Amino acid sequence: MSTLQELVRPELRGQTPYGAPQLDVAVAVNTNESSYPVPQVVVDQIARDVAEVAASLNRYPDREFTRLRTLLAGYLVRTTGEPVTPEQVWAANGSNEVLQHIVQAFGGAGRTALGFTPSYSMHPLISERNGTTWVDGLRDADSGRFDLDGDLAVEQVRRHDPELIFVCSPNNPTGTSLDLDVVLRVYDASDRAVVVVDEAYTEFSRAGTQSAVSLLPGRDRLVVSRTMSKAFAFAGARLGYLAAAAEFTDLLRLVRLPYHLSTVTQAVACAALEHTDTMLAMVEQIKVTRDELVAGCAALGLQPVPSDANFVLVGGFDDAAATWQALLDRGVLVRDVGIPHHLRISAGTPEENDAVLRALKEIA
Ligand code: PMP
Repeated sequence: MSTLQELVRPELRGQTPYGAPQLDVAVAVNTNESSYPVPQVVVDQIARDVAEVAASLNRYPDREFTRLRTLLAGYLVRTTGEPVTPEQVWAANGSNEVLQHIVQAFGGAGRTALGFTPSYSMHPLISERNGTTWVDGLRDADSGRFDLDGDLAVEQVRRHDPELIFVCSPNNPTGTSLDLDVVLRVYDASDRAVVVVDEAYTEFSRAGTQSAVSLLPGRDRLVVSRTMSKAFAFAGARLGYLAAAAEFTDLLRLVRLPYHLSTVTQAVACAALEHTDTMLAMVEQIKVTRDELVAGCAALGLQPVPSDANFVLVGGFDDAAATWQALLDRGVLVRDVGIPHHLRISAGTPEENDAVLRALKEIA
């Protein structure tokens, strides 16, 4: 008799699942969620809209999530000024699923995906779990900010000639934005790679940062992925989306499971999008808190990386794992992303921020 360990796909043997700790702590600033609850006016709208669709749950949902696509396209048009149509928009249960759809459609056995480490840990995980060979590319390690160097990126794209390339702007876990010029150079360095720009945190960017959505016209291998989990303060709703060429999104219909977005998910996401300004109301406050976190850490003699996201990568810890534990002992849960001497801390409420800085000061 074979054991289950022997029966499981060989590449899964000994692997560990994604596992940011979910602990009951006073200050949870480890997964870059919003610390602010959904505003009451949106809660009321969600309750009304879900009640309205409840009786129709005997039927499958709109497979093409038409209204949701239209609202998402409208949001992109309004915030980027670019002509994005509903046919150019795709959505799924979190941008993780959106990314998985891309890998399922364009990656797979015998194909390669390239990313530039450190970056979002799910890019390699989703690639490898779907049979795609992952290549851990380099950023510019010398910059101290983990910037992605254009020349280095182009050289790696040419050398590995991947079918898929992931870049992340602002980058998780470093918080740094990518110049659109580098995205263009990466795109032009290949004539076949699908280039995914993961813009999960773009709404938190400082003034002057431009979305890669502006590069979409005429580039049918370019994809910009987004999420409602961060700036929209809607992580529990599980709604991610992307913008790409209409032909690209059409191909994703080949790999999605039928009716992947439930009627409830669609109703809830549409309700939030109808209240976009209310949902995004705390973004400016979070940016202020983030900048205060950078300043506060610098004042403690640490080395925070200036951030365009809702989190800060902080360097300067002798022993990051020991500091992570010492913070947890004080009720503060941050993220050890595996970069020596660094921890990643989300910008919570001003009160949470103060608690983080107080705890750091105590430990120092
Ligand atoms: N991209 C990046 C860069 C992220 O950091 C995250 C979440 N941590 C995601 C995508 C996925 O978020 P979600 O599935 O909630 O949309």
